[in-house]
Amino acid sequence: MDFIPYGRQWIDEEDINAVVEALKGGIITRGKWVEKFEGALAEYCGAKYCVVFNSGTSALVAAYRAVGLDRGDNFITSPITFVATANAGRVWGAGVRFGDIETDTGNLNPEGLENLIDEKTKLLVPVHYAGHPVDLEAFRKIADRHNLALVEDACHALGARYKNSKIGSAEYSDAVVFSFHPVKHITTGEGGAVLTNDRVVYKRLLMVRNNGITRNREEFLNSPDGDWYYEQHQLGFNFWLTDFQSALGYSQLKKLDFFVSHRREIAKLYSDLFKDNPYFDLPPERDYAFHSYHLYPIRLRESYKPLKGEIFKKLRQAGLGVQVHYIPVYRQPYYRNLGFKNFSLPKAEDFYLRELSLPIFPAMDDRLVEEVAKRVFNVFEELSPSSAGD
Ligand SMILES: *Cc1c(COP(=O)(O)O)cnc(C)c1O
Repeated sequence: MDFIPYGRQWIDEEDINAVVEALKGGIITRGKWVEKFEGALAEYCGAKYCVVFNSGTSALVAAYRAVGLDRGDNFITSPITFVATANAGRVWGAGVRFGDIETDTGNLNPEGLENLIDEKTKLLVPVHYAGHPVDLEAFRKIADRHNLALVEDACHALGARYKNSKIGSAEYSDAVVFSFHPVKHITTGEGGAVLTNDRVVYKRLLMVRNNGITRNREEFLNSPDGDWYYEQHQLGFNFWLTDFQSALGYSQLKKLDFFVSHRREIAKLYSDLFKDNPYFDLPPERDYAFHSYHLYPIRLRESYKPLKGEIFKKLRQAGLGVQVHYIPVYRQPYYRNLGFKNFSLPKAEDFYLRELSLPIFPAMDDRLVEEVAKRVFNVFEELSPSSAGD
């Protein structure tokens, strides 16, 4: 059988027709599809406002600024994330601090996090790793106690729930960020979104997306000298998502519940097939959580940790597109140079040495899931016992 990637998009005829229709509509960017997609996403998540962006990265950049992050401030996030979560604050001249994680979920641990807070700390950014929500109430309490903004990096967690609240409702946070990269729950090719219930944050998101410009007369600081007049109030970028991408997002969103329930079925089948195996631990689901399984991250047992390189190579040779999520961000040369030269966090390091992501995407049927499990077992069974240590 062919190579099985760890994730991939689901695009059907309905999606293709939606894009074609948008392309034929005359206005291919900054038009009605952007607003339609934003309205549908806000309604799905139960948030007041939604602004879409041309990537999850640009959505993070805009969200951090919109909640007030500025030069000289610092913010706290998880090292077990994509580099963009940290980079998005560097763009604004803010310093980043990394907190350690929970060993089983891989999420930023709220316990002990307050030790990292000082007078320059302005923002907390927990990441819903793999689609398993962080304990949002715990983060909200910390944010309230220290007067910090709270932004959720929910790029893995569209369709997930925390208690009775949908991720994206921004019930506990100032803003929630999604990505629509093809491996994520829904795709627009590249794309992202920020959801918020705060009108001021919403207005700032619009500005950052539009090169810092407003054309709204009520917001002008000076009097217009003609009908052409507009004002730039702050630094911004061109972060617009096109209309044909928004049409794709709108069409994809209709299938989101199916995508998520199918991902959950795949995860359940994996958990049955791998139950009581001696090689690795399976991803947990806390009582408060409804997991959306962007990833299915397994964690090697102690004696298999030293063999991760070999296991990864053999899984790839067996045609499995396994991945590692993630190299702790502070290990990247850019962050090493920024002052993290001798920095490491014990639980993040341990997680990194154990974690492997198995294929999970909506087009997988039971037969394919069973095929993956069979190949995984084959690889582990063929490891030479001596190399396993104990
Ligand atoms: C995908 C992802 C991003 C960035 O999204 P892009 O759309 O690729 O720019 C940020 N954070 C996390 C956790 C992600 O998985």
